[in-house]
Amino acid sequence: MKKITILGSTGSIGASTLDVIARHPDRFEVFALSAHSRVEELAQQCKKFQPRYAVLPANNDLPAQLKTRLRELGAKTEVLVGATALETIAAHTDTDYVMAAIVGAAGLAPSLAAARAGKRVLLANKEALVMAGQLFMDAVKEGGATLLPIDSEHNAIFQSLPRNYADGLLKVGVKKITLTASGGPFRKHALSELKNITPDEACAHPNWVMGRKISVDSATMMNKGLEVIEARWLFDAKPEQIEVVIHPQSIIHSMVEYLDGSVIAQLGNPDMRTPIAYGLGFPERIDAGVAMLDLARAGKLEFEALDDARFPCVRLAYEAMRRGGTAAAQLNAANEIAVEAFLHHQLAFVDIASLLEEVMTTISVTEGTSLDEILVADAYARTATKTKLIERRTLSRL
Ligand code: NAD
Ligand code: MG
Repeated sequence: MKKITILGSTGSIGASTLDVIARHPDRFEVFALSAHSRVEELAQQCKKFQPRYAVLPANNDLPAQLKTRLRELGAKTEVLVGATALETIAAHTDTDYVMAAIVGAAGLAPSLAAARAGKRVLLANKEALVMAGQLFMDAVKEGGATLLPIDSEHNAIFQSLPRNYADGLLKVGVKKITLTASGGPFRKHALSELKNITPDEACAHPNWVMGRKISVDSATMMNKGLEVIEARWLFDAKPEQIEVVIHPQSIIHSMVEYLDGSVIAQLGNPDMRTPIAYGLGFPERIDAGVAMLDLARAGKLEFEALDDARFPCVRLAYEAMRRGGTAAAQLNAANEIAVEAFLHHQLAFVDIASLLEEVMTTISVTEGTSLDEILVADAYARTATKTKLIERRTLSRL
């Protein structure tokens, strides 16, 4: 029986993880859950899965609400609070697997704690690798953790690589990694129409149901940019070994090209329960509850080159990756602020990329060898982005 901690259990990935776990009561047991605001959902999850711990933020009355609801529902779960409690449940000696599914920079510290404690880390929180790739991969090595990528593209690449890929991509005959991208909801919109995109339109992804932040990232394709950086760290790939191709159907989840011209890809219906079940069952295959792929019904699989003018965020991510140090962490932080501003109608959709570009050209980058240094750089980028936002809003009112 494997005991599982889910960081971010009330989110899209968290709920899909619980769905897969519920299909295998003989294999998995929920050890701990965490949420940020949705108390009722967390309470219902505790009632159903009876975890030992549930974690909420400390600075509000949500923990008290949760305790009351747990009592009413007859769940014996103990409520822990605050950021350190997330690290406690991630590194606890009694947990075996940790699903890292908190969105954004907030997921870094507990994911790192799980890696350092030598857990099987199912990593959905791509921002952790974007911010602190070297640190994270070192923690995995030193802690003796098993890192399994859950992001569908990286999971596909992992499945398409030989098991000894850590010896070096070229050594094992890999020439290139190609990440597929759906192109999001605005792939075909006239550029002039993008000005008035609303948050709800940006969050209506054609193929995937996801949280709002990653949905906006998919619409700007910053998500693909972050994934390029994620791939760089996971597979020790050079920037020139990673490519992006648009594939609107999201059936080929990514591919690996070998020196002999062979291309190995992983296919499936776009449902995150497939990579989640892969991570939970590895090296075995287990039922994910996902409908089988019907290629005849899918009809055609299309591909096209990435349009840089439409999706400048991918270039910004490549630039940050090449620059190294804290650049990627700062791009990620600036992006979190920009997306939040867009979701609150304070920034136009088309201005997300230009704001990020402005921040990245003015910001100074440091080496980023420690977590503290990375977090300082992250905070600095957030402040710089907020300042630029205020400048822009003031200018637009003049
Ligand atoms: P979501 O918004 O649906 O859920 C996020 C979860 O994180 C929630 O449980 C929320 O309570 C928690 N959370 C949010 N802010 C927090 C904070 N400050 N501190 C602690 N907890 C906090 O997001 P999601 O779509 O499930 O995505 C989760 C992660 O997985 C993201 O990093 C995303 O990029 C990645 N991912 C998601 C998908 C997908 O299909 N949804 C696919 C690939 C990768
Ligand atoms: Mg992805």
